Amino acid sequence: MPVAFITGVTGQDGSYLSDLLLSKSYEVHGAVRRTSALRRSRIDHLYQDPEIYGKQFFLHYLDLNDPTTLRRILTKIQPDEIYHLAGQSHVGLSFEIPESTCDLTAMGTLRLLEIIRDLKKVPKLFHASSSEVFGKPDRAPQDESTPFRPVTPYGCAKAFATHMVSIYRNAFHMHAGNGIFFNHESPRRGENFVTRKICRAAAEISVGKRTELRMGDLKASRDWGDARDYVRGMWLMLQQDQPDDYVLATGKLHSVEDVVSIAFQTVKLDWREYVRRDERFDRPQEPCNLVGNSSKAQQRLNWQPQSDFHSLISEMTESEINLIKHQPDSSDI
Ligand code: GDP
Repeated sequence: MPVAFITGVTGQDGSYLSDLLLSKSYEVHGAVRRTSALRRSRIDHLYQDPEIYGKQFFLHYLDLNDPTTLRRILTKIQPDEIYHLAGQSHVGLSFEIPESTCDLTAMGTLRLLEIIRDLKKVPKLFHASSSEVFGKPDRAPQDESTPFRPVTPYGCAKAFATHMVSIYRNAFHMHAGNGIFFNHESPRRGENFVTRKICRAAAEISVGKRTELRMGDLKASRDWGDARDYVRGMWLMLQQDQPDDYVLATGKLHSVEDVVSIAFQTVKLDWREYVRRDERFDRPQEPCNLVGNSSKAQQRLNWQPQSDFHSLISEMTESEINLIKHQPDSSDI
């Protein structure tokens, strides 16, 4: 049974990756941050299953700024593969808390690399990088050779971590690679990301739970894919003989307004009657023209995005309607 260790296991990607690896008969260990708000809903189905939890799936308390604990856990479980997904991942928030964003996202990755380097059996490493490293790129679409020009604290922290992973791969011959992933969404997306915020609001308005949706820049655009396609890409990257960096993207740019329009269409409402502009949600700096070219992953990993944008947003909106039926409470984000 191959052993995998996942940092950020409670997040959108960590939970889908756990599902995938467990279906492939891995023993999966996840790192969980000890916080006062214990929110693990995305992995509850694994945690609550006595056939899985404690047998094939294990959780460990760990803070990425606690290298002693990290070293102890990795020495004990001796993973074959590490998927490093943890970090403060909200770009807007990184302007509010830049120091802790950099400590966790940039230095946290370096600390992990340092520990891995010393392990007796050096595991393969996947690092979840981000299209935010490109910031305001000088070309579109972006691929693995596009220079990094981050415009947000989060993008800058990710750029540092991404370079460090490449440096360790080359200097210490580690099987370590960066997945430079463009935005990827799903019903398990964090509630303060724009797709989830919109889908939830459309669902709530449709059942009469609220009357309006306040939004930042509707013209902002992203290359949005489906998280389930992207975790498959992570796994494929670590099954290659040679470690490398890969861009995963759909290659299609959509605006926030497109998301709004599909979500409201799903609940059969005209979005113009409910959406209000609110500058509080604008960012001090926005990346622009972030759209990816994933030809390398398509050719070498045989990776293809399988879901399309329209059905993804519809699925997310329908999932919110189901959630409202089961969890009536929610708040504006
Ligand atoms: P990001 O790419 O990691 O920043 O993902 P987000 O889902 O947080 O934001 C995607 C884009 O939506 C950004 O360009 C935001 O500026 C834009 N946006 C517009 N209105 C909103 C809003 O009300 N909330 C959020 N979170 N983003 C918004």
